Amino acid sequence: MGRIQLKNVTKSFGDVQVIPPLDLTIEDGEFAVFVGPSGCGKSTLLRMIAGLEDLTSGEIEIDGEVATEVPPAQRGLAMVFQSYALYPHMTVRKNIGFPLRMAKIEQAEIDQRVETAAKSLNLMDYLDRKPADLSGGQRQRVAIGRAIVREPAAFLFDEPLSNLDAALRVGMRLEIGELHERLKTTMIYVTHDQVEAMTMANKIVVLRAGVIEQVGSPLELYHRPQNEFVAGFIGSPK
Ligand code: ADP
Ligand code: MG
Repeated sequence: MGRIQLKNVTKSFGDVQVIPPLDLTIEDGEFAVFVGPSGCGKSTLLRMIAGLEDLTSGEIEIDGEVATEVPPAQRGLAMVFQSYALYPHMTVRKNIGFPLRMAKIEQAEIDQRVETAAKSLNLMDYLDRKPADLSGGQRQRVAIGRAIVREPAAFLFDEPLSNLDAALRVGMRLEIGELHERLKTTMIYVTHDQVEAMTMANKIVVLRAGVIEQVGSPLELYHRPQNEFVAGFIGSPK
């Protein structure tokens, strides 16, 4: 399960309202992409869903439960950052198993879940290496592995590929797409990259200055942009 609903959510930092009242529903199993220029509020929205940032007002529900009453670690959501969020002193095995050790799961089960995740991400040969001895793409897979082991209700990605070079980005995009096909878990993916949005999403949410300009499938946005901003943003090459 992983239906996420934002109801009348707002966010202010001091006197500055960066998210005016916003409503949005992400259905269970959807691959939703939040796209928009830098500073439009994508990370803030994701962090509020993850529970890393308080709402100023409104409500977020996850599978019908008011999330704001549930501590971040118990929301069943896994956030994937850029790959440099790995622990440099830990092996791949330890990095991937970290959330399970924190949850006090017993070692035999941790080993088994880490191996399953490592297999699905082609990391079996790298389990005893440290992040410094991996390529950028492998490191990003470890970051994803650390999310997978938790078997979350939804994955939240914040520009996970922005540190990778162009060729690797294309490969990782495909891998994340395949992961979604396989797990069918809700994914929310934040990017400022139109190409990522158009190629990865079932549902694109176009944001400008904290306001949703349009929500729709890539084809709907391409063929029927609701305004000049959406047309320009989706239509313009990167
Ligand atoms: P994006 O991820 O789309 O680039 P952010 O969500 O990071 O945008 O930021 C949205 C707006 O909120 C920006 O104007 C940013 O400067 C502001 N902002 C984000 N975090 C903070 C903070 N902790 N304190 C003050 N302003 C912030
Ligand atoms: Mg951001």
